[in-house]
Amino acid sequence: MPTDTAAILDRFRRAGALLEGHFRLTSGRHSPGYLQCALVLQHPREAEALGAAIADRVRGLDVQTVLSPALGGIVIGQEVGRALGVRALFAERQDGRLTLRRGFSLEAGERVLVVEDVVTTGGSTRETIDVAREARAVVVGAAAIIDRSGGQQKIDVPFHVLAEVSLPTYDAEACPLCRAGLPVVKPGSRT
Ligand SMILES: [Zn+2]
Repeated sequence: MPTDTAAILDRFRRAGALLEGHFRLTSGRHSPGYLQCALVLQHPREAEALGAAIADRVRGLDVQTVLSPALGGIVIGQEVGRALGVRALFAERQDGRLTLRRGFSLEAGERVLVVEDVVTTGGSTRETIDVAREARAVVVGAAAIIDRSGGQQKIDVPFHVLAEVSLPTYDAEACPLCRAGLPVVKPGSRT
């Protein structure tokens, strides 16, 4: 499948996972774009193709295990693991802290790739990297479908993304789209 940025974003648009217009986000802020990876990943063939595209980019890293943060990273982590033929684990929050549960474990020196759906600030990818390092695994890279951090993710391992997206958000009172008189919609509604 074509995996350049335009083709990836096209897949998102077709699934309604990337909308362009004027939106009121759950935070109350306004934005010219709305991104929801789950809407593309709900289609198993799309998820499989995106996982294979990430796997192609990290083939040379000799990955032994994929580790993802729950919940957002689980589906794409599974698909990257499938494409690489390695196991796929996830870390989840307990008392506010990401941790390995369910009997999941990593060995000292195990070569781990951290996989997420979308990197917004990079915080949860960095936290997942820490989970692997605490287990004395070696984090050989990180990957995501979409990077919307604007280059601010501060991930200290080789980082691979399928597409970078810039989606500014605005205070409702200072929104240039409101000022231009464009009607604002809640994502998912049909107005
Ligand atoms: Zn607005």
